[in-house]
Amino acid sequence: MQIEDIADGIHLVQGSAVNWIIVSDADGVTLIDAGYPGDHADVVASLRAVGHSLDDLRMILVTHAHVDHVGGIPALLERVPVPVRTSFEEARHARREYLQQATPALVARNIWRPGAAAWAAHVLARGGTRAVVVPTATGAADREPLAAPGAPVPFVVAGHTTGHTCYLLAEGKVVVTGDALCTGHMLSRRTGPQLLPAFFDHERDRAVASAETVLAGTGATIALPGHGPSYHGPIADAVAAALGGKPR
Ligand SMILES: [Zn+2]
Repeated sequence: MQIEDIADGIHLVQGSAVNWIIVSDADGVTLIDAGYPGDHADVVASLRAVGHSLDDLRMILVTHAHVDHVGGIPALLERVPVPVRTSFEEARHARREYLQQATPALVARNIWRPGAAAWAAHVLARGGTRAVVVPTATGAADREPLAAPGAPVPFVVAGHTTGHTCYLLAEGKVVVTGDALCTGHMLSRRTGPQLLPAFFDHERDRAVASAETVLAGTGATIALPGHGPSYHGPIADAVAAALGGKPR
């Protein structure tokens, strides 16, 4: 686990295979994503490492309801029953009214990729094949600041999942990109801005279009991805670099 101090009250935690973000102010902590089911102890430890405890948690936000991002939520809610918010569409996904996630068969067809065997072993070890449901997830209006520590502003960047949600922090200077834009992954040999391997995206073309229009249009200068380290520079440059790399 690696913790990056990004800005006032904003920390990017790189877990063993996925990131989460801790946003804090005088009112407490907002947690954005929560890792795999097996990352629970790391999530709690990361809160402690930045001077907080579970009791400070006020809200959990979700970028998208894949198991590596919501897996840690049920165990957290058992201890602190805080609200869980994301876009209206992704809230349906988190409640498992439907599932848009790479199936085991699809993953198996991609096992030839460099790093895939190690990644698959890791997914298993962290409980990544467990069925995770967040029945209390509710929707939040697009582009309206949430009444939560750090006042994150949600906005939909569709494609990776239909309701995939990014968040603006620090008056728009920082954008939490989730899996709409990453900077590394166990299945990637590239470093720097990139899209994930296409088989992870529910709709690849839509993910590309949303990155180019919605994400690049935010004007943020720091990006906090779902996988990989933080990116510092104009978000439009990050998107251009990701798409110019001809991801497949
Ligand atoms: Zn992910």
